[in-house]
This record gives sequence, structure tokens and C-alpha cells, in this order.
Amino acid sequence: MNPSQKNRKSDEPKESSMGRQTFQIAIDGPVAAGKGTVSRLVAKELGFLYIDTGAMYRVAALLALRHGVSLENESRIVQLISETNFQMRDPVGEEKDGRLVTILVDGEDVSWAIRTEEVSRAVSPVATLPKVRQVLVKKQQEIARGQNVVMEGRDITYRVLPEANLKIYLTASEIVRAKRRHFQLLTKGEIVEFQEVYEELLKRDKRDKTRKTDPLKIVPDAWVVDTSDLTIEQVVDLIVAKVKIMRSMITS
Ligand code: C5P
Repeated sequence: MNPSQKNRKSDEPKESSMGRQTFQIAIDGPVAAGKGTVSRLVAKELGFLYIDTGAMYRVAALLALRHGVSLENESRIVQLISETNFQMRDPVGEEKDGRLVTILVDGEDVSWAIRTEEVSRAVSPVATLPKVRQVLVKKQQEIARGQNVVMEGRDITYRVLPEANLKIYLTASEIVRAKRRHFQLLTKGEIVEFQEVYEELLKRDKRDKTRKTDPLKIVPDAWVVDTSDLTIEQVVDLIVAKVKIMRSMITS
């Protein structure tokens, strides 16, 4: 951290290495709170870069599953990540099939392969591994450097972008989130019982909130947005309006 950063209030814009002012939005929250959809739309509306950090943990889990590596084998999973070429980009052409982001692993499109229930079950154990987190946090910070971003995950507000201009904790009731997740899976053709989805969601939340390294938590300066009774459009409008006000105050 350089001295000018130390004295800067978190809601002031940062100077990028190009001398450009950046505005960074960090969003954390539990499973199926709507972080992905909301972040994607907010980013689109503001012309910011959208970064789905969960996708990176999902890729780590997918690599472990595909290589038959135990989900506890930290050094092997770190090695698999370092040997892999990972790309994240906005969907283009035929990729616009409902996905929020396109993920390429060594050139292979794994955007849907990382969203299965099998990967969802494997991802939170992998995300407890401190060295895996260390490598991925570094990558995430590199991607965000000098950019206007909307970045979402579990530790963004305090670990990845602790100096973000706007920090949001997006949540919804457990039952609403489980219904959303169930609906998402059914529309993708994965036939699963609601009860199974509900229990898996509770299990993943618990693991994400209680792990030793960088658990999901609400930081004191976060704006908590409960989306249980709001439409996606309402949540997006709320956030975009807030950002516009903050930016106009900064530049005036
Ligand atoms: O956001 P999504 O549900 O795709 O994230 C999948 C999993 O990745 C989470 O349940 C969590 O275990 C892990 N994750 C994390 N830190 C992040 C993003 C995701 O631990 N910043």
C-alpha cells in the first residue's frame, strides 16, 4: 500500500497507473443472492468490467474433479491452477445463451461445466484452502487494477478490494435463495429436488461463513441490500442510482 492510499477515504476515486480515476464496486453475499445477475447488469449499465470471482473457485474445483485430485490436496490444486490458462470475458456471438460470463480453460469453454451441482458441491471445500485463495486473490487483484469494476464473491469487500469505493452485501432469505437456485438448475435441465437444493445451499453458506481463511462476512462499511422482495431491475436501479450520486459528488 502506498502512502497516498493509506490516507484516502474509501469512497474517493482511485488514481490508476494510467492517471485515470477508477471507481470500484465490491459485492459479497451468500449463495444465490443474485450477485451474478445484478453485478452483470450494473456493470453493463455503468460500462464497468464485471468480474465473477466464484467462477475462478469453480474452475479450481472442476480441475480437481477432472484430474481425480482430492478436494483437500492443496498443493496439487494450486499446481493445477498454475498450469492452466484461464480467461474470463463477456459472452460474444453464440455464447450469448443465458450465461453471465464466458470462462475458458486452456481454450475450452467451461462456462456451463462449472455450474453443475457436482461442481457446486466441490467448490466450497476447495475455497477453504488458504493457498488456493492466495493465488486466486492475487489474480483477481491483477484483473481489477486500474479498472472500473463490479467484482462479486465472498471476500471482495475486505480482502480483494478493501479500498473499493462502494461495498455491498447482497442477500435474501434462505427460502427465496433456494427457490432461485432451484429454478436456475431446472431451466438448465438439471432435475433436482427442491429439498436437496435447499440443504446444499445451507451447507455451502455455512462452510463459506465459518471457514478460517477469509470467510463470508458483513464488513462495517458495507451497504446491506436484502433482495428478497425486490425484482432484479429494482436492485440494479438502486445500485446504479447510488453509484451515480457518489460519482457526481466526487467530481463536483
Ligand atoms: O459465487 P459462486 O456461488 O459461484 O461461488 C462458488 C463458491 O466459491 C462459493 O460457495 C465459495 O465457496 C467460493 N468463493 C469464495 N470466495 C469468492 C468467491 C467464491 O470463497 N470470492
